[in-house]
Amino acid sequence: MKIVVFGSINMDLVCRVKRLPAPGETLRGSDFFTTPGGKGANQAVACAQLGSSVAMIGRVGEDEFGTNLRTGMKKSGVDVSGVVLTQGSSGVALITVEESGENSIVIIPGANGQVGMDDLHRLDSTLEGADSLLLQLEIPSEVVQAAAKKAKEHSVRVILDPAPVSALADDLYSMIDIITPNETECAALTGIEVEDTSHVEQAAKLLLNRGVEKVIIKLGARGAYLYDGKESELIPAIPVNSVDTTAAGDAFNGALATALGKGLKLRNAVEFANAAGALSTTRKGAQPSMPTMKEVIQLMMENGRDYDKTNSEW
Ligand code: ADP
Repeated sequence: MKIVVFGSINMDLVCRVKRLPAPGETLRGSDFFTTPGGKGANQAVACAQLGSSVAMIGRVGEDEFGTNLRTGMKKSGVDVSGVVLTQGSSGVALITVEESGENSIVIIPGANGQVGMDDLHRLDSTLEGADSLLLQLEIPSEVVQAAAKKAKEHSVRVILDPAPVSALADDLYSMIDIITPNETECAALTGIEVEDTSHVEQAAKLLLNRGVEKVIIKLGARGAYLYDGKESELIPAIPVNSVDTTAAGDAFNGALATALGKGLKLRNAVEFANAAGALSTTRKGAQPSMPTMKEVIQLMMENGRDYDKTNSEW
């Protein structure tokens, strides 16, 4: 079952330093590395690692990063025929991390900011026969909206990760099958801080009233809250030794689409996604932390979590 991801592809440039530099100050750092990122690419790699057939539609720059990013995704098993080279730089995140763990980040959209109508044509043909379209908000918002519309025309499920969060157009809400905000994104979209279950429920209902079909609120180490207008449930996270929560949400969304593509019921798909999210926090980095199908199933079994065997291939 094919999953299509339409979104951002970034190179993260990470440096470590004792403390963040003040304006005008030059400091000596201790460590530097580059690592592939971008929410779209992370979610595509998450799907591929779990064995899904996944196609990425997006843009990278005509620079060294662009070539490396495209090749890296391909090696992970992502169909990158819809990833085109575009003039200028690739999307880049400049991340400075100080010893305390505090960071400062500059994001340059680069090629991601060039994603537009041309890409929608490529998306259109790729959506034929697909199961889910995964969207995030790191490409221009009007293109996200047009992409959701295309998916609806093809009867493809739309899963929107509203990150980095910004207000969504009224029309977009009604085209979303599943919205997956984390706690801060949920608060920004609804104005409701999700401290306890009653607040989570209130926020989920509000999102549903705006036209979304189903709501999953990602609650970090607390798990995920699911609401479909009839039933609601807080599905607890699987306790693990977390070392780096980068891209846990992307692992979750890739796993959610994978499980739904395998025919799992939504509740079971969330259990599966919780396990994938948890596993991704036990390893450093974004794309290198994405778990395999075998690892997710093993963690679920070790923790007595069920998945609907009758509806799945495993
Ligand atoms: P995001 O990365 O988008 O901020 P979250 O931090 O909520 O999203 O993480 C996404 C999912 O990953 C959670 O819903 C949960 O299933 C899992 N997860 C995240 N942090 C942990 C953790 N410390 N322990 C176990 N599972 C976690």
